[in-house]
Amino acid sequence: MYIVFVGPPGAGKGTQSKRLLDYLAIPHLSTGEMLRASTAQGTSRGHLASQYMDAGRLVPDQLVMEIVSERLALPAYSKGCLFDGFPRTLAQAKALDEALAARNTPIDMVLELRGEESVLIGRMLKRAAEEKRVDDNPETITQRFDVYKRQTFPLREYYESKGLLTTIDAMAGADEVFGAITAAIESHRNKSRSLAMARKS
Ligand code: AMP
Repeated sequence: MYIVFVGPPGAGKGTQSKRLLDYLAIPHLSTGEMLRASTAQGTSRGHLASQYMDAGRLVPDQLVMEIVSERLALPAYSKGCLFDGFPRTLAQAKALDEALAARNTPIDMVLELRGEESVLIGRMLKRAAEEKRVDDNPETITQRFDVYKRQTFPLREYYESKGLLTTIDAMAGADEVFGAITAAIESHRNKSRSLAMARKS
């Protein structure tokens, strides 16, 4: 299964994606993690990416697509993965669709976490104080929210028009959110099974 997981900063995507990966037993494709690894390795890509990341801005689409394409070419990613924090722009979403169409493995589902901005900003500020992530300070938090609203939020319309979008309320407790996610996945699986059976008969 190829699943896209989107949501604003502070919506609990990190926590939920960990649980989801265990549940689905598919590999993870987190562009944020991959970009942080490139930065830690001191590669030229990492150096370029960090200039955007540290400012809470999006890394250029071309660089992101390069690292995603390399990852998708690995055999472990041939049957499915959880796209986490990717795509973040319409250009990335379209490029991903093309890449997956070329190998005949389209996206199965898009899960969107949705929450109230003031609550999410409060969560982010708390995390910033606890974890001291370079890109988690009050200025970049506001910037990342702004970027999400302007560049990533429009993706919901794109995926909704394709009938792929499921929106989940991120304001509930972590267990409840996870319950809603797994319910959406099981409902999708049941529908796919019924469709496959109807085609056979
Ligand atoms: P994340 O860990 O997903 O919150 O990503 C951390 C930072 O990495 C973001 O604020 C962006 O600067 C950058 N980043 C991660 N994924 C992408 C992406 N798909 N497109 C552009 N920039 C990204």
